[in-house]
Amino acid sequence: MAEKSGEYKGKATMEKITSLAKRRGFVFQSSEIYGGQGGAWDYGPLGVALKNRIQAAWWKEMTQLQDDVVGLDAAILMHPRVWEASGHVENFTDPLVDCKKCNARFREDMIPPENIETRKCPECGGELTATRKFNLMFKTHIGAAEDSASVVYLRPETAQGIYVNYKNIIQSNRMKIPFGIAQAGKAFRNEIVTKNFIFRTCEFEQLEMQFFVKPGSDEKWFDEWRARRWAYYEKLGVLMDSLRWHRHGADELAHYAKDAYDIEYLFPMGWRELEGVHNRSDFDLKRHAEFSGKDMQYIDQDAGNERYIPYIIETSAGLTRALLMLLCDAYDEEKVADKGNEDDWRTVMRFHPNVAPITVAVLPLMKKDGLAELAENLRADLREDFSTDYDQSGAIGRRYRRQDEAGTPFCVTVDYQTKEDGTVTLRLRDSMEQTRVPTAGLAARLRDEIKAYKRAESGKV
Ligand code: ATP
Repeated sequence: MAEKSGEYKGKATMEKITSLAKRRGFVFQSSEIYGGQGGAWDYGPLGVALKNRIQAAWWKEMTQLQDDVVGLDAAILMHPRVWEASGHVENFTDPLVDCKKCNARFREDMIPPENIETRKCPECGGELTATRKFNLMFKTHIGAAEDSASVVYLRPETAQGIYVNYKNIIQSNRMKIPFGIAQAGKAFRNEIVTKNFIFRTCEFEQLEMQFFVKPGSDEKWFDEWRARRWAYYEKLGVLMDSLRWHRHGADELAHYAKDAYDIEYLFPMGWRELEGVHNRSDFDLKRHAEFSGKDMQYIDQDAGNERYIPYIIETSAGLTRALLMLLCDAYDEEKVADKGNEDDWRTVMRFHPNVAPITVAVLPLMKKDGLAELAENLRADLREDFSTDYDQSGAIGRRYRRQDEAGTPFCVTVDYQTKEDGTVTLRLRDSMEQTRVPTAGLAARLRDEIKAYKRAESGKV
């Protein structure tokens, strides 16, 4: 299969996304009043809503809608031997070089080959140091004594929490192979380069699922999970022309992997990994058996107590990276009038209604004459079922633009006619179409609109 190519033709730039994210309260720099903390970001009201909804969509897809996948929430702090067994203590390193002149620090695999050969700094031409191995795990101590016996690591991935619990889950939940365990949670990596906003950060969140299969059926399940993960992004409303598969060549394949594909997204800075789907073979469970001394074999009671170490198919996505992807994917600028001023344009975030931070905004045309009260009551009816917003300040056109920028798919406007016949204006974000609908049955109408939602605009690639 030839890899899809293509240059970014969307309207987002990282500058625009970063600035909109800050202005509208999606993402702020961590500890900004102290000058900022590199590699860490804070999610504001719209950002945390978006993040929670992406996670909820993933969780639903991977547990509720699957016959054979259950959930787990393992601790961030694990026994240090876990990371010896996993290979992270030994191998989870980046090659690091420093410039002796300007002190800039680089990942050797991210600078041009000619700079490595000549050992010249790509920024100032100064001399580069020899390459050092730099372990990406954050190391700390538990308890009062800071000795080697008290070392713990902040987990660099959620997967290991799943492997060490696989027998508990089989026993407690009577699981039979094939089955999977899904987990969402924080992970930490001491990344050397953390540019491109929240793309690569030191603290981030992962959405991982490990699927345990009988050796020999692993290739079939690998293909199956690739198909399921691709379909998930389609369901999220992502522009599918902006996604591609990248298969790891022999030089890229991790020490544990039998086969590996990444789902890549065409970000403004180019194609980058969004999620990995890996056939991890029996590497992980064999290693944990070896390091813990515990039997990690599966006993197949339906096949005469046949014993084997399962193979693992992993789907490993970044939640915060998916959020960045959706910010870029949803971003659009559109000319909506021709009056020769800046109001002619709108910025609109075309989030799928299933992940949009606010689903419906209720707007009274005027504050007076009882319209505000009517609108507040309507909002109170809707908020049990939908994430809502209420906005009564400014001209109605301005308020629509504010909701467009927040990515709110539906606005409901209460006006004088509402007082007479109980109808409101339903305004759709993508088409800006406005229709009069009765307030009775509005929730059902919104649910229908959400189910039938199709992004109006053509691809950006
Ligand atoms: P890279 O080689 O780019 O550092 P990786 O291949 O090691 O990344 P995995 O270990 O496969 O990444 O992690 C699975 C997913 O977790 C990635 O596809 C990405 O979405 C997310 N992820 C990994 N590292 C980071 C990070 N530092 N910041 C944000 N998300 C990350």
